[in-house]
Amino acid sequence: MRKGYLPLGNAAWCGGDGVPNITACRICGSGKLHVFLRLGPTPLANSFIKPERIGDPEPSYPLDVCLCNECGLVQLNYVVPPEVMFKDYIYFSSTSATMRGHFAMLASEVLADFAGKGSLVVEIASNDGVLLRNMLGKDVRILGVEPATNIALKANESGVRTLNDFFNSGCARKIRASEGPAKVVIANNVLAHVPDLKDFVTGVSSLLADDGVFIAEFPYLADLYSHLEFDTIYHEHLSYFSLKPIIRLFGQSGMELFDVKKQAVHGGTLRIYAQKKGGPRKASSGKIGGMLDEEKRLGLYGNEAYDKFASDVGTLRAELLALLRGLKKGGKKIAIYGAPAKGNTLLNYCKIGADLVEYAVDRSPYKQNHYTPGTHIMVYGPEKLDESKVDYLLILAWNMADEIMAQQASFKQSGGKFILPVPRPRIA
Ligand SMILES: [Zn+2]
Repeated sequence: MRKGYLPLGNAAWCGGDGVPNITACRICGSGKLHVFLRLGPTPLANSFIKPERIGDPEPSYPLDVCLCNECGLVQLNYVVPPEVMFKDYIYFSSTSATMRGHFAMLASEVLADFAGKGSLVVEIASNDGVLLRNMLGKDVRILGVEPATNIALKANESGVRTLNDFFNSGCARKIRASEGPAKVVIANNVLAHVPDLKDFVTGVSSLLADDGVFIAEFPYLADLYSHLEFDTIYHEHLSYFSLKPIIRLFGQSGMELFDVKKQAVHGGTLRIYAQKKGGPRKASSGKIGGMLDEEKRLGLYGNEAYDKFASDVGTLRAELLALLRGLKKGGKKIAIYGAPAKGNTLLNYCKIGADLVEYAVDRSPYKQNHYTPGTHIMVYGPEKLDESKVDYLLILAWNMADEIMAQQASFKQSGGKFILPVPRPRIA
């Protein structure tokens, strides 16, 4: 085992000898990968633990991040097999009002601008149908593709036709053979999860009609970098995209971007619009060029910026721990509001456990009455806040901070305070 890789508590080390199992960039194949951030052995971010399993060995894996010096793709250098991560998933997009609203707007845009009458709209990683649901009864044929069996089942039960599968070039061929070409293919928050990006884009290209449009959203690296959103790094997110490597990726499969739009969700999201090369839409080259210039200005293609990022992450940890320990010492009680996947990166990296916080609350019934992975903090429903009063709420789902603080207005009115950890710990 590589030095520095010591499993936590009853963690079961599953990272082999800690040597990366990815040595070539997943877009350009280069071996020039600069590792800039090591978050240490970490359990899977969504592997919440049932109380009766708390003593069981807990698998943990390396969580190291590197920059490809050839194409600029930021990526993990260790891949946990997808079937371990996604077969029984607990992130239901529809849990969040913010995401429901965001996808309703995207659905309106797709219907108004891209999907003609009777055309096929395919969404990859369609989750519980949060987006496609908006297109029911709208004279388009919809099909979701969702790898998590439990979530695909929910979607089908709610009337959103969903195929329970991982999307790849083989899956794309099957869909095209049975459904015909797709006028619109959508992939939101999935590109980052894909181990074989080239095969994925080949699949998209083969499924699309010649005048079809591919729309994808992913967390934007420029925002991750600028706002120190290191906690959005976890095993499920294999890639962290800026625009430059995305253009290269699509170019390799005969596709081109014609538009990009920044979105506010998930701490900063980029939406891209692509078509087959030579397709009917004129590229918005000024907009795309402007964004590439901005990425260059931020330093997103060179090692220096990322080394600085890693050092700032270390400072954030020190400041957050000092804040929580100081409050605890002063007799204050702290609970966690929201137990998102990214929260587990932060808790594990900072080693924040039940010694510092009383409990966590989350609105998802799939997390309630479970312990957080690695740090073993019990998650309850939000009603716990009324039963067991605390002075501070640490908001781990900081991208939902406004929504959460509005829901918890009475907590604030009765003297409670919020702690926002990222980009710098602060009390609100
Ligand atoms: Zn590369």
